[in-house]
Amino acid sequence: MTAMLEVKDLEVSYGKIVAVKGISFSVEQGQVVSLIGTNGAGKTTTLRTISGLLRPSGGEITFMGQRIDKVPAHDIVTMGLAHSPEGRRIFPRLSVEENLLLGAFARNDHGAIRKDLDAAYELFPILGERRKQPAGTFSGGEQQMLAMGRAMMSKPKLLMLDEPSMGLSPIMMKRIMSTVTELQRQGTTILLVEQNAQAALKRADYGYVLEVGQIVLSGSGRELLVNDDVRKAYLGED
Ligand code: ATP
Repeated sequence: MTAMLEVKDLEVSYGKIVAVKGISFSVEQGQVVSLIGTNGAGKTTTLRTISGLLRPSGGEITFMGQRIDKVPAHDIVTMGLAHSPEGRRIFPRLSVEENLLLGAFARNDHGAIRKDLDAAYELFPILGERRKQPAGTFSGGEQQMLAMGRAMMSKPKLLMLDEPSMGLSPIMMKRIMSTVTELQRQGTTILLVEQNAQAALKRADYGYVLEVGQIVLSGSGRELLVNDDVRKAYLGED
């Protein structure tokens, strides 16, 4: 079986700084795959490159059997790859519903868009209750829900989430993480980037550990959770 997403020898630079140094990994259809690593490991850079927001200086990215490393970002969305960015990037003055509709910018199947809005409100009822409210009045966790709901409005086959748990209370984090499992159950494949290794590996079918631009370890979520090096470096155990 060929993977849904295949990243091969990916290298990404900011001028002279090489942030991603030739990494390879894949995401199979139906999986939750986690990419973990500390600050500056290159996780965000990797996601932004897959989305087409940055261009690689080397390597290949293949999605659904097609090379996408030279495809414009908006066409990548249309192909079925969505990105919920680090820091959420919601539009604070727009209403919840307007923010969600921005996620459907590449679609013109208006009837289906309405149905998907309802699906987003079912996934996160608070979004439905406050659909007319400016998004800037939301808490961090609610904004995270909105960012995920907005990404889902493009009807992605693969959803990439950049640090969804950042800055959230334990309860809200649990809520967000259980949504990841729910989206997987509904058929969405997920690439999850997290500094919170525990939360990310618990739900992952497979995981990769990124350190200073290189993959240093990979394995099933379960294997990585019990791995001594992972436990010491990422789970705060000695
Ligand atoms: P974080 O969790 O802090 O976002 P990360 O693993 O996502 O970390 P990146 O943001 O991808 O890491 O950063 C990887 C490396 O690239 C870091 O050394 C960072 O300083 C550098 N970097 C990121 N963005 C830029 C930029 N716009 N210009 C120059 N260097 C950058």
